[in-house]
Amino acid sequence: MTVEADAGLAGALTEARRRYADANPRSSAAFESACADMPGGNTRTVLFHEPFPLRIQRGSGARLWDVDGHQYVDFLGDFTAGLFGHSEPAIGEALRRALDGGLALSGHNTLEARLARGICARFPSIDLIRFTNSGTEANLLALALAVAVTGRRGVLVFDGAYHGSLLAFAGGGAVTNVPHDWIVGTYNDQAGTDALFDRRGPELAAVLVEPMLGSGGCVPGDPEFLRLLRRRTLECGALLVFDEVMTSRLAPGGRQAELSIRADLTTLGKYFGGGSSFGAFGGRADVMSAFDPRRPDALTHAGTFNNNVLTMSAGLAALDVLTPAAMAELNARGDRLRTRLTDLAAGLPMRFTGLGSLMTVHFTDLPVRNGADVAAADQGLKELLYFDLLNAGIYTARRGMSALSLPVGDAECDAMISAVAEFIDRRHALLRTHSRSSAHSL
Ligand code: PMP
Repeated sequence: MTVEADAGLAGALTEARRRYADANPRSSAAFESACADMPGGNTRTVLFHEPFPLRIQRGSGARLWDVDGHQYVDFLGDFTAGLFGHSEPAIGEALRRALDGGLALSGHNTLEARLARGICARFPSIDLIRFTNSGTEANLLALALAVAVTGRRGVLVFDGAYHGSLLAFAGGGAVTNVPHDWIVGTYNDQAGTDALFDRRGPELAAVLVEPMLGSGGCVPGDPEFLRLLRRRTLECGALLVFDEVMTSRLAPGGRQAELSIRADLTTLGKYFGGGSSFGAFGGRADVMSAFDPRRPDALTHAGTFNNNVLTMSAGLAALDVLTPAAMAELNARGDRLRTRLTDLAAGLPMRFTGLGSLMTVHFTDLPVRNGADVAAADQGLKELLYFDLLNAGIYTARRGMSALSLPVGDAECDAMISAVAEFIDRRHALLRTHSRSSAHSL
């Protein structure tokens, strides 16, 4: 970007942040107050952005209202956990039923095995399943299991991937990650990954991979890349763990079923709890049965809330609502929206990547195929789009992600298209001066 364009973008951002701050005095005050008791007023890092994040008052259907009274179309869907919107009647009813039956029942309840059966029936690779409270925990357990059953310590992951709070690999890996022997490869790099297997294969307990980098920018894994992982893990005796916490919404058996790849273990989370905290890991019977407490050498997997009745009840209702037909319609709607957005951005350094109901915008005219490509795109334009969309009543993630929920219909998609068209119109000069050779982050 030229010096003039840089100055133009910096000025536009200052103005957008000021407009945002002026429009949201109550959110600002709530943030200041929360900072007294929580570091940065925050208990969920992804929600923070400058100058302060919005405080949401309530939600209904596909709508959100903030504490300053603005209404938004929710195009974020709680980073994919809110697939059912904010007030799906069957889920509300299931939660009320659970409340009526009493909380914290001190034993097995009548719901957990039914939910297990419902999920196993959808995923051909999941013979046996166990529940956790989050996707993070599901991945932690899957890796611990892989280490225990293989007797090896290495875990191959990919730069830019996000597998949970203690399993974050943007920029190579967070200092707070759990201490496995990480080997960090390049997503979608078949030759490089092949070479990694040649050298390190015998050390590997597991390969942990998202079939599409989700939080990392909605970057689909090439089918051939994912098949390579299947072939090479079988050869070297490592377990292939598919993190389908996000991608499981793409088809009844997840992206693995679409690609006919059978993972050894699969991790789930997000929407399966119908909006309640949820996680699960499951897969091959011979591997998962290491947790069978009838075995004298059984591994332990405890968790006070693993079978909590609110999640189990909401999860059962969620499975009923999310029929294969409803899933197909949701993802077809997302595909149509992404195509329309891509058409709008034709000729501009602005790309919409993703699959089905999941998408992320990247301000670059270069292909986006891995974590480094995502990091190299322009972050300032992304921030500007975020504020301009909020101003137009469209709620997305600050990092440019959208995840459609079931109540998002044609009218909502049209509103998104108009808002992005207006952004392109208004910011045309800035977008035009963004050149491929000097893209950088503000
Ligand atoms: N894996 C993936 C692919 C995710 O997107 C996430 C959450 N963004 C997680 C794991 C972690 O899930 P949770 O936030 O429930 O711990």
